[in-house]
Amino acid sequence: MRHHSHPFVYPGDWVEQAACDIKQGEKHYPPDDKPVPRDFYAKAKTVCQQCCVVEQCFRYGENETYGVWGMTTPVERHRMRERKARYRTLIEDPLQQEAVGE
Ligand code: SF4
Repeated sequence: MRHHSHPFVYPGDWVEQAACDIKQGEKHYPPDDKPVPRDFYAKAKTVCQQCCVVEQCFRYGENETYGVWGMTTPVERHRMRERKARYRTLIEDPLQQEAVGE
């Protein structure tokens, strides 16, 4: 499947072991031209549960803003990035640590 606004790029050899149709982009990207079906992400995650390359997939797609990567949705990855950024700030700026009481 070609995605008009998010063209699929071959992520690496690990996709050969994927449980989903990652090479076609089918399980990754909701359809461009329609609303995301309510069960799209739940169904995709069910397939991820059978997959042996979840970690490679997640690492590759960690910063992707669309689709399913390593059993995560775009919203979940967004929250993870926010959390990471927050912890990075706390580690780099101990004064802020004191300010938030951590
Ligand atoms: S983790 Fe999920 S999205 Fe990633 S390759 Fe495996 S089945 Fe596909």
